Amino acid sequence: MLKEFRADLHVHTVLSPCGSLEMSPVRIISEAKKKHIDILAVTDHNSTRQCRVLMELGQEAGITVWGGAEINTREEVHCLALFDRMEALEEFQLWLDRWLVKIENNPDFFGDQVWVDVEDNILGEEKYLLIASLDRSLEQCIDEVHRLGGVFAPAHVDRSSNSLSSQLGFVPPDIRADAIEVSPNATPEMIKKHGWDKIKPLIAGSDAHQPERLGVNITTVMMKNSSLNEFKKALKGMDGRSVMVERLQRNSGDLT
Ligand SMILES: [Zn+2]
Ligand SMILES: [Zn+2]
Repeated sequence: MLKEFRADLHVHTVLSPCGSLEMSPVRIISEAKKKHIDILAVTDHNSTRQCRVLMELGQEAGITVWGGAEINTREEVHCLALFDRMEALEEFQLWLDRWLVKIENNPDFFGDQVWVDVEDNILGEEKYLLIASLDRSLEQCIDEVHRLGGVFAPAHVDRSSNSLSSQLGFVPPDIRADAIEVSPNATPEMIKKHGWDKIKPLIAGSDAHQPERLGVNITTVMMKNSSLNEFKKALKGMDGRSVMVERLQRNSGDLT
């Protein structure tokens, strides 16, 4: 039996230097509940350290939380890496710690980089600037995410900075990604012109840095349950499963 899940696959927390201090785990989950979001992916810049608290809180609230990060490759391309197992996240964190280019954060200039518990007590602080890049190429990032069983998707492909389009000039048709993320600003015309939907299935995330922005860009997934494994099958369109960007569908009918 397939069920419909509404997913916001790109959400920042208080841990991202650019994320609002209001983006605490409790606030994010209550906002997601209010907006009828079934699946939330936590994707802070180059760190997974806020994921565990959100995953636990989500479980209590009946919202599936996938952990991950928005990684920044050596080419300065932002990409989403999604996992649903804590062990994979922990291993991925070691890899991030190893390859993040070490520039000390200046909180007054870039913002705080703390992760917090359910009462907003600070659990720790990232010392190095999380919006720096990893000393790993796009290809090496894809390899690592796949080695750990994660889903890899270049982020906000339509954006004029830190995207495949802006950094490489195009989306390589043979890219070994599982999906391509479009931002809340992507239009059907833009997508059609570049043919992104012909390369990989399109997914959406809000890229929320403030609570109000949560859920502004939703991926609707038809699958059996909210596991990442089912999501991978949905991305491949297996046995009737499907993935679509809610906003684009609503605005334009069928993209093709
Ligand atoms: Zn980004
Ligand atoms: Zn982002």
